[in-house]
Amino acid sequence: MADKVNILGIKVDKVSIEQASDIIMNYIEEGGETKTVYTPNSEIIMQGYRSDEIRDVLNDASLLTADGIGVVYASKILKNPIEERCAGYDVACSLLEKMSAEGKSIYLFGSKPGVAETAAENIQRKHPGLIISGCADGYFDSEKEKQIIEDINMKSPDVLFVCLGAPKQEKWIDYHKKELNCKVCMGLGGSLDVFAGTVERAPEFYQKHGIEWLYRLIKQPKRFFRMLDLPKFGITVLFKGKKFKQE
Ligand code: UDP
Repeated sequence: MADKVNILGIKVDKVSIEQASDIIMNYIEEGGETKTVYTPNSEIIMQGYRSDEIRDVLNDASLLTADGIGVVYASKILKNPIEERCAGYDVACSLLEKMSAEGKSIYLFGSKPGVAETAAENIQRKHPGLIISGCADGYFDSEKEKQIIEDINMKSPDVLFVCLGAPKQEKWIDYHKKELNCKVCMGLGGSLDVFAGTVERAPEFYQKHGIEWLYRLIKQPKRFFRMLDLPKFGITVLFKGKKFKQE
């Protein structure tokens, strides 16, 4: 079985949450070039299908995991199945646990002012062995961006969480990765909001039944137009998915 599945041109790694966090721990140990980790859902894969730029950014990642049940279903339709959904937030939780046990460091970047700090407090309480080396919000002009990059580089964290929403965070990481003094950069969407408690994760019922998208839509109706890509994604995979060669 291949270790990646090609979904509309985006090559997603077939890893579980546990495997993903182990791989990231290895990246930390290895050092060398900054590694990049993104967790695309079907909306982002659809954007990658439409845009060469987004597709190339995603395919350039060191690790790409399947966030969202739609991506898992697509892999099954393509007869190259991913066993489990590997959502960014879940990978982050598993990784923080392992990083804490080894005294590794993290920098939290993104979300509205104050959110990263509240997330840091909550994360620190749960993972006392973890070093949280810095926080910055995700609303910046070019001057502030320069200062954020300087601060990250001064603190040189093992892992940088970048939570600017997709595909902004993936593009930001791809553009800046060579100048960042950290071992791993992860794009994690709204995860800091969840760690901070400003946004609730869907209850288990929704997660188990693959309808977390419905919960998010009820809570954040402004997502409606973005979510129109979900049925389009399903139809495109069904009718065009087989044209993309599996490895
Ligand atoms: N965000 C940000 N800067 C921006 C735009 C968005 O920091 O310029 C943050 C926003 O505050 C939120 C996150 O990015 O915390 C996006 O969350 P969302 O749930 O929309 O992202 P997704 O996981 O769906 O990509």
